[in-house]
Amino acid sequence: MVSDDLHITRYKGIITRTGLLMLVTGILVLIGWKFDIEILKNIYGQFPTMKVNTALNLIFLSIGYISLVILPKEIHKTVCVIAITPILILSGISLSQDIFTINLGIDNLFAFSQNNSGTILQGRMSATAAVCYILASLWVIITSNEIKSLVKFGQYILHTITVISISIFFGYLYGQLNLINLGVGAPMAIHASVSLILFSVTATLFNPKVGFAKAFTGTKIGNIMARKIITRILVVIVAVGYCEVLILSNKILFAELCSTILTLLLVVIALVGIKDFSVMLNAMEAEKENAFQNLSMGLEAAPYALITTDSNGLIQRVNKQTEALYGYDRTELIGKPVAILQPEKADIFNTDQRGLFFKQGKSIRLGTDSDQIVFTKNGGSFPAELTFTPFTSATGPNILISVVDLTECREKQRIIDMQITELSQKNAELQQYSYICSHDLQEPLRTVSNYVTVITEDYAEYITPEVSNHLTSINGAVHRMSKLIRHVLNYGKIGRNSTLVPIDCQSLLSDVSDDLSHLIQTTSAKITYETPLPIINGYETELRQLFQNLINNAIKFKRKDTPPNIRIGCLQQDNFFEFYVTDNGIGIDPKHHNNIFNIFQRLHSSDRYEGHGIGLANCKKIAELHGGTIWVESATNKGSTFKFRISHAGEFSLMLKEPA
Ligand code: ADP
Repeated sequence: MVSDDLHITRYKGIITRTGLLMLVTGILVLIGWKFDIEILKNIYGQFPTMKVNTALNLIFLSIGYISLVILPKEIHKTVCVIAITPILILSGISLSQDIFTINLGIDNLFAFSQNNSGTILQGRMSATAAVCYILASLWVIITSNEIKSLVKFGQYILHTITVISISIFFGYLYGQLNLINLGVGAPMAIHASVSLILFSVTATLFNPKVGFAKAFTGTKIGNIMARKIITRILVVIVAVGYCEVLILSNKILFAELCSTILTLLLVVIALVGIKDFSVMLNAMEAEKENAFQNLSMGLEAAPYALITTDSNGLIQRVNKQTEALYGYDRTELIGKPVAILQPEKADIFNTDQRGLFFKQGKSIRLGTDSDQIVFTKNGGSFPAELTFTPFTSATGPNILISVVDLTECREKQRIIDMQITELSQKNAELQQYSYICSHDLQEPLRTVSNYVTVITEDYAEYITPEVSNHLTSINGAVHRMSKLIRHVLNYGKIGRNSTLVPIDCQSLLSDVSDDLSHLIQTTSAKITYETPLPIINGYETELRQLFQNLINNAIKFKRKDTPPNIRIGCLQQDNFFEFYVTDNGIGIDPKHHNNIFNIFQRLHSSDRYEGHGIGLANCKKIAELHGGTIWVESATNKGSTFKFRISHAGEFSLMLKEPA
């Protein structure tokens, strides 16, 4: 199609319905001829009939017309050629018969009906109809082949068909039968003329921005008015004309009196019309003013400085924020070059850039990466972000500039940066401190342990069984203390110097099971995977530790005489993976569900269940390191389900990264 496809989508319904009406009309006329039904052939009384060849043309034209909107390009091209060829042959031969006053036998070629007196002679297609169909075929060829250079020509072809067929229709309306055939050949039937009017008017919608269609389509005030006025004007003119013909042909009044009365009538109708239109225009104007006021209010209420300029960068409007930010009064700015309000670097008004800017029609934002410094009236300055947006107004291309003062934002950023640096330093100090602490704490422990060894070895003969027991207790306590210090140190190291890598959780868990194989075997534990486990972005060592702690606990806190049964799975949610580890162990009283994740928090003594109360604290830290959380669902003697989430994002902030 030559036209804009968007328009065709919009007018597809009206075009298809017109095509169908033409098709049905053509078929009904053929039925009329076949069964000799007068009303189908001529509609009314002694009106001229639509000839079989005209009806065939109408059917072919409607097929081509509908195909243009409902079939894909490649197919409708072929359909149009098939539909147009018989129209050109029938109309061409028929017209040449009129021009050269010969009979080539085409008129009754499709005389498929007979009455008592033999074949019904249908007669010749009207010469005007033949001309209109040839013109319509030309339009179909131009449109189906998308010949862009001929679009305007095609639109005027349609207008010509409209003028011819409307003249004929008026001929019928006013009883001026000499108009019907426009003085050439046989007369065109009334339904043929109406069909052609409908076709030629709706077909202009293929190119609504070309020719007369331009005035009636579109959303501008002129188009809206044209659409509203056209029907009224046509009805009034046709009605007044009809009255005149009726009065004069029946000699009801003298011509002079008739003209005077009808002129008066026209004046009255015109006045009423003008009143109505002025009300309509005023309403539209008020709507426009309203919209303009809303826009102005929006402009003034905006939290940023907003400036509009013409295409040369001369300021047209500014809002209150602009005055407040720059210290100028708006009267000092209107009409001045916008250069005074923007940094030199941000000048998009030099000729090269400006052309490109309007051509591309996209916003330009400056000052997001590097600061743009803007100067105020009193010589002050502030960092700003500027956005230039092109728009078109009634006066031509314009620019809307928004200026955001970044002073506060930069200050906050500076404070945040400062705090991050401070935090990093404190973190480093803390790490150093915990390292020194644990290192220095190990030292006296080693000394105590050494002395115990010396006493046991060098003073063996003085050691009574009771002293020996005490020494063993001292050694045990030293050993436990040393282990605890190591755990604390490891807790502090979680996430440090780790890198995010893709982790196949299935193979990670099979490694963990291997590591725990001895424990699994001795307790006859059973591990089941209830869902496939995903590949995620994470910190491998830490995740391994997380799973290991949970599985280890699930086995450790088993019920007496009940082998551990552990079920593991993962549910994928919108933004995270949710893993779970469920056991059939001793369970946890809900009142402890939160505090078990605190460091050194244990619910049992070391005699009953070995441990240091640091495993779940590690798990919590690791889950948080992955942008997630961990929690437990459990009740005493009902088993426990530990759940944790790992964010999908895969770009977790390494809160404990080594400071630079
Ligand atoms: P530890 O295992 O060294 O005691 P954790 O931090 O791993 O330390 O666990 C803290 C406490 O939470 C445990 O002492 C235990 O009371 C409870 N707990 C942890 N996991 C389970 C579990 N699977 N079933 C029952 N209780 C559990």
